[in-house]
Amino acid sequence: MEAAVNSSKEAYKSWSKTSLISKQQIMFKFQNIIKTNMKKLAESITLEQGKTLIDAEGDVLRGLQVVEHCCGMPSLQLGEALSGVAKDMDIHSYRVPLGVTASITPFNFPAMIPLWTIPVAITCGNTHVIKPSERDPGTCMMLVEMLSEAGCPPGVVNVIHGAHEAVDFICDHPDIKAISFVGSDQAGKYIYERGSANGKRVQSNMGAKNHGVIMPDANKGNTLNQLVGAAFGAAGQRCMALSTAVFVGEAQEWMSDLTKRASELKVNAGHVPGTDLGPVISPQSKNRILDLIQSGVDEGAKLILDGRNLVVKGYEKGNFIGPTILADVKPGMRCYKEEIFGPVLVCLSADTLDEAISIINNNPYGNGTAIFTNNGATARKFTQEIDCGQVGVNVPIPVPLPMFSFTGSRGSFRGDSHFYGKQGVHFYTQVKTVTQLWRETDVTHSKAAVAMPVMQ
Ligand code: NAD
Repeated sequence: MEAAVNSSKEAYKSWSKTSLISKQQIMFKFQNIIKTNMKKLAESITLEQGKTLIDAEGDVLRGLQVVEHCCGMPSLQLGEALSGVAKDMDIHSYRVPLGVTASITPFNFPAMIPLWTIPVAITCGNTHVIKPSERDPGTCMMLVEMLSEAGCPPGVVNVIHGAHEAVDFICDHPDIKAISFVGSDQAGKYIYERGSANGKRVQSNMGAKNHGVIMPDANKGNTLNQLVGAAFGAAGQRCMALSTAVFVGEAQEWMSDLTKRASELKVNAGHVPGTDLGPVISPQSKNRILDLIQSGVDEGAKLILDGRNLVVKGYEKGNFIGPTILADVKPGMRCYKEEIFGPVLVCLSADTLDEAISIINNNPYGNGTAIFTNNGATARKFTQEIDCGQVGVNVPIPVPLPMFSFTGSRGSFRGDSHFYGKQGVHFYTQVKTVTQLWRETDVTHSKAAVAMPVMQ
């Protein structure tokens, strides 16, 4: 691990002086190589992580969009200048890199998340050490090889492997200046605290409980399909999965239709054609999810769709759970308070939009939320009053495109600057401001001026 940081430190000496145009050229080539190898990357994700092939392509594509955005880094990094701000004086400020930076990534998006950090970090002039999830590190390795094929010099990006020990190494190493983290609350809070205590910049994207509000005036068919896709796609293992539904007023009657649609989803290995959702990541994860479902039943929720006993032919020992729906859930229940991160939708009811908003704003997480309605005024009230960082109106998974940033808030985020977009550039750079005085007349003062310079 030490060798990786030393290599990145050494590479920084020349990489920080490499022109932005050259870095941009590498990004263009990287983009092209990823596109050409899309299928290969997706197959590797499916094999290693379990998600379906189409979903794995989406995983690569959402990361590729950040690479494409970084192709425009010269414009994104434009600084500020004022000429003649005082007599014969000009000031300009521009962004400079931090040095060696690092990221620590989760299992659920093995392509997208490394591509949220590496391209931004290195086109801003930093070098980078990445520690992918120990549960599926293969895609990150492939991406870093592709980056090298695109002309990125050795040492600019290094990969280290491991779990807690590798995380502590990153948090404590004096040469690492910033850490991007994505993963669970427990790890995210720990890394934020340990990294910050060591004087590093840290951005930490953590867990979520994203609510979808279903208004009775919404288009019923579209809304239920969107809800089913966003709750159960990727077996619910998305940080922006709509894991919680709040049915308002008469929309509460749509629950049986929702159950029917969810029960029609095909659960199988990710590479089998026609599969809608694959397995969850591990036996431990499966047991945790089953335990949370049971806690809901024990605390009085109604299990209206039970995917617990599903067996997939040919993969009898697989970590499969079928789509599961818990209705009549109340905010005090464990299945509501804890992130489930599996194919389980918990459903609550509210009489009014105000009540739905209050439920969501009282939940500690603030990653994302969505409302389904055909009424503009309802949608506007919701977007104004809801306290979540990313809001969808008839968009179930509102992950912003990279000209914006990933702006999860409250319990889902710690730090000051978010991932990618302008905020990503801010995170990976610091500002240098240069004040220059070149006198119009090349006068040599015979006596030093000792009064405070007032720059007029
Ligand atoms: P995880 O926290 O188990 O692992 C993430 C990384 O942290 C891994 O590299 C792992 O090695 C390390 N890690 C794990 N436990 C640690 C600990 N106790 N101390 C130090 N390091 C530790 O997360 P995961 O299971 O891989 O991913 C799922 C989680 O990630 C979910 O909670 C999900 O909501 C979250 N997530 C959030 C976002 C977001 O943008 N907010 C995006 C994707 C995933």
